[in-house]
Amino acid sequence: MAAKGDTDARRPDRQERQLGTGTRLVEAGRREEWTGAVVNPPVWRASTHLYNDVAALRGGQRGNADGAFFYGRRGAPTQWALADALTSLEPGAYGTMLYPSGTAALAGALMAVLSPGDVLLVTDNAYEPTRNLATGILKRFGIESRFFDPCDLDAFAAVFCERTKAVMLECPGSLTMELQDIPAMATIARAKGAVTCIDNTWASPLGFAALEHGCDISIMSLTKHVGGHSDLMMGSATAGERHYRRLRNTAQALGHVVSPDDAALALRGLRTMGVRLEREAASALNIAAWLQSRDEVAQVLCPMLPGAPGHTIWKRDFTGGCGLFSFILQGGDDEARSRFIDALQLFGIGYSWGGFESLAIPFDPSPIRSASAWPPAGWDAADRLGVRLSIGLEDADDLIADLDQAFNAMAPA
Ligand SMILES: *Cc1c(COP(=O)(O)O)cnc(C)c1O
Repeated sequence: MAAKGDTDARRPDRQERQLGTGTRLVEAGRREEWTGAVVNPPVWRASTHLYNDVAALRGGQRGNADGAFFYGRRGAPTQWALADALTSLEPGAYGTMLYPSGTAALAGALMAVLSPGDVLLVTDNAYEPTRNLATGILKRFGIESRFFDPCDLDAFAAVFCERTKAVMLECPGSLTMELQDIPAMATIARAKGAVTCIDNTWASPLGFAALEHGCDISIMSLTKHVGGHSDLMMGSATAGERHYRRLRNTAQALGHVVSPDDAALALRGLRTMGVRLEREAASALNIAAWLQSRDEVAQVLCPMLPGAPGHTIWKRDFTGGCGLFSFILQGGDDEARSRFIDALQLFGIGYSWGGFESLAIPFDPSPIRSASAWPPAGWDAADRLGVRLSIGLEDADDLIADLDQAFNAMAPA
């Protein structure tokens, strides 16, 4: 919806040195031609854009350039500012398309790069709607999907065929938290001529520079960290120039547009995303370490935690994390797990994550995995039942006390 353009005329002699993340989050997307004299881009509610005369109208239709007025479906400065901000946060990016949800962004990206007869490779730890997209609508349009074990590079290399045109990664998986070796996988995919898409919602570009690590299209559910306040739905796909053009053509053909009100909310969320993620990640690490000491817990699935699965790759490739992680309860007693979650007082029970408030949900990926075992080899077969926590901005000590009393409530009388 907006690609790299002229730099802000307001401060023409600004130094070119690379600014820090916090500074970039403050500056992102605030071009004077979009904000005027105020700090944030105003909400431009617009379907019709007016032209001075017929010649300008015809010129406008020919132009249809990023950041130029044309018609409401192409957005207006509020959406352009958000897209521009997301582009500026992703190293190596040329442009960003916005979508009405994260799921729409995943669908939009896959439809931009796949055609009937193509094969899509999907990581087995993918978010369930991603799987459903692959096995549902994409299949109906003649695209075949094959799943692969997220942690087995050889199996990944072996699943390619002549018709493989795209790969969908999710790192870490948003339930089981398995990390993939993204640079190695992206290198393999590139050598085979396939486009690498990644669902980068967990880390965001602040924690993982997806394009710099070899991915072609970086997708986020902005509903999570960028919105940050559990009150909006939106998605994005960010890419270098070639893939950005494909994303843009497809999104325009499909009629994707986001409301300017929601774009303004997302921009507001973005300004504080850095401090929120830092705080949530620090609390999550604290809580994950505490959970590891509990007898009720079989596994802590938190790649930020030293010694946890995926930690080595996380340390190598990531510059940050967030508050989302999981753990597996000992023993596989579903009713005990429900007693535990129901007893929580500070954690809400609900889908989504990345909001300022903490959440907990039960999960069990074993029925949907098709290319890898769950529980993984080496675990007790009963250690199947997971609890996913989204740690918000509450004090970590209070959250730990809440988890502690819920473990007591879970114990049989
Ligand atoms: C929530 C989520 C999505 C989908 O985003 P929506 O905005 O809810 O459509 C995609 N990927 C991951 C990893 C998610 O957690």
